Amino acid sequence: MRLVVLGPPGAGKGTQSARLTQKYGIPQLSTGDMLRAAAAAGTPVGRRVKEIVDSGSLVPDEVVLKIIAERIERPDAARGFILDGFPRTVNQAKALDELLKAKNMRLDAVIELKVDESALLGRIEKRAKEMAAKGCAVRADDNPDAFKTRLAAYRAMTAPVSAYYARQRLLKTVDGMAPIDVVATQIDQAAESSVRI
Ligand code: AMP
Repeated sequence: MRLVVLGPPGAGKGTQSARLTQKYGIPQLSTGDMLRAAAAAGTPVGRRVKEIVDSGSLVPDEVVLKIIAERIERPDAARGFILDGFPRTVNQAKALDELLKAKNMRLDAVIELKVDESALLGRIEKRAKEMAAKGCAVRADDNPDAFKTRLAAYRAMTAPVSAYYARQRLLKTVDGMAPIDVVATQIDQAAESSVRI
């Protein structure tokens, strides 16, 4: 199974992708996690992108495409994967199509989590509080200023990705305002009805 999970910041992409990973035994490929790991490790890419990620802007396509191309090559992704936070631009979506075509693969479905924008900042602030309470590091972009930038980037660059996949008849929209378990059930139904034999 090869799925993309789309949605604005705070929509629940990470939560739902992690659950799908458990259910289907395939990896969650989160470009956000990969970029944060590179930043924390102080790799050359990490040093270049840390400021961009922390500000809430999008990292240049070529950087993200290189990371994802390498990750998809790893053996654990051969049986499938959940793409979380990628693609975020139409250019990335087109590049992903090419990447998969070259490997004779294609996406099964793109799950879009629809969430009221008014609920998003509250969710991000809740996540930051929960992380702090657990003694975990709080993401540098989980604050109102960076959130504004992330939402603006989503509206300008990522919202058109939904239309791109709708044209390919891959887009399945799920109500991301429902309780986590209900969203999960809707996603499972959408995913299972789309798997190509
Ligand atoms: P996320 O963990 O998905 O919320 O991503 C956190 C941040 O990482 C984003 O705000 C961007 O700065 C960067 N990022 C993650 N995925 C991408 C992507 N596909 N394209 C560009 N930037 C990305």
